[in-house]
Parts: sequence; structure tokens; C-alpha cells
Amino acid sequence: MTDIQLNSLYQQLILEHYRKPRNRGVLEDRTVEVHMRNPACGDEIRLQLKIEDGVIRDLRFLGEGCSISQASTSMMTTILKDRSLEEAIALTRRFTQMMHGDRAAARDRALKDLRALKGVAKFPIRVKCALLGFDALQEAVRQTRSERGGTASAEAGG
Ligand code: ZN
Repeated sequence: MTDIQLNSLYQQLILEHYRKPRNRGVLEDRTVEVHMRNPACGDEIRLQLKIEDGVIRDLRFLGEGCSISQASTSMMTTILKDRSLEEAIALTRRFTQMMHGDRAAARDRALKDLRALKGVAKFPIRVKCALLGFDALQEAVRQTRSERGGTASAEAGG
């Protein structure tokens, strides 16, 4: 459960995702799977994606831990379907900016429900919880790109 003070409306949204996580389960035809842990809090996320032609066709996750880690991952998955890997990385950057207190990022509608987590930025130890699903996402993108081999050089420098 949430043990930090957040805006109550936002808190409701976080708890709603925690109790009824979106896209929770196993994706049989996944192309990549990443398991991430946050030992400081005991959170775990297992993220599975089906990525084709640089697009996230489908995704699921399994996990356990605090409401912040599970809700942020649930919120993240609602945005990513049919998004390109570039868009997934851009979303990760934007959310990370918000978690570091960036006010413009906290107003960015592209973050959708994830904006409910902006108050977590005031609690550095919980920021890791909020970022866990995105850490898994970044690792999944990295693995997918490295599997493609030599074509990755065209994207270097970004
Ligand atoms: Zn946590």
C-alpha cells in the first residue's frame, strides 16, 4: 500500500491500477522478456513484449511489490501498445524527467495516468519503485536492438 502522502485523487488512481493492473498476465508469443528487481523495496517486474518491425505489438507484465511499482508499470503498459521503440524511449525519458521534478514533464499529457505519480518525485527512495517498469522496458528495447545486429549503428548518437 501507499505509505506516502500524495494528492488524494492521484492516490485513488494509483490504488486503482494497483488493485486492477492493466495488461497483467503472460504473453505467449513474446519476442523479449525482462525481469527487473528493486531490492531496496522488494519490488519485482517481469515484462513481456511482442516487438515486430520496431513496433510494440502487444505486452504483458507480472509483478509483485509496492503500489507505486505495480501501478506505474500498469499505467506504462496502457500507453505502449502499437507504439514504436523510439516512442517507448521518448516516454521513458519524459517520465524520468518528471520523476526528477521537471514541471513541464509533469504537465505533459503524453504521460496520461502516469502523471498521478508526479508526487513521488519528492521521495527519492520511491523513485526507483516508479521507474522499475521503465527500467525493464529500456532493457527490452536494448536487447531487441542488439539482436538485430549491425543495423543499430544508424541509431547511434541519439
Ligand atoms: Zn517499491
